[in-house]
Amino acid sequence: MSIAIYPGSFDPMTYGHLDLIKRASLLFDKLVVGVLVNSSKTPLFSIEERVNMIERAISDIPNVEVRRFTGLTVDFALECNAQAIVRGLRAVTDYEYELSIAQTNRVLRHNIDSVFLATSLEYAYLSSTVVKEVASYGEDISRFVPGFVADAIMQKIQKKG
Ligand code: ADP
Repeated sequence: MSIAIYPGSFDPMTYGHLDLIKRASLLFDKLVVGVLVNSSKTPLFSIEERVNMIERAISDIPNVEVRRFTGLTVDFALECNAQAIVRGLRAVTDYEYELSIAQTNRVLRHNIDSVFLATSLEYAYLSSTVVKEVASYGEDISRFVPGFVADAIMQKIQKKG
């Protein structure tokens, strides 16, 4: 059985992430979306909120599961019995960083490989950071994230107010 993990912060999940999840779910028998708990960044959404949002968005995809994780990504991959780590490449700027991480991961655990998917053109510019920034100015973000995610972002921003 081919198993891959798709790790990230997902703070919050965007249509870009969702597009990648759908495409990766067609390439592997099983895909585990790994939501990183101890990110060095202070997230807008708690780990539970981030996991719940992805679960809600992928409920119709049978071979995808969402799990939280701490520690090294390669160890999470082994825990999931995964052979591959899926990451998205949006632009050249992602490349250098992703390549060094992938090479480090291969040195740490040589039996885990990284698989990069080029992001769909319509989402190539999209990041969680940009979505939060746009939302903070009261702009409509429904083109970037599902409706329930947009509502959750707006609520957070109003609370922070
Ligand atoms: P991280 O903090 O690990 O970069 P992110 O949640 O920002 O986590 O991203 C997780 C993964 O999703 C990364 O591989 C990233 O390249 C990919 N990704 C982010 N935004 C998009 C997008 N718009 N389209 C496709 N993939 C994306």
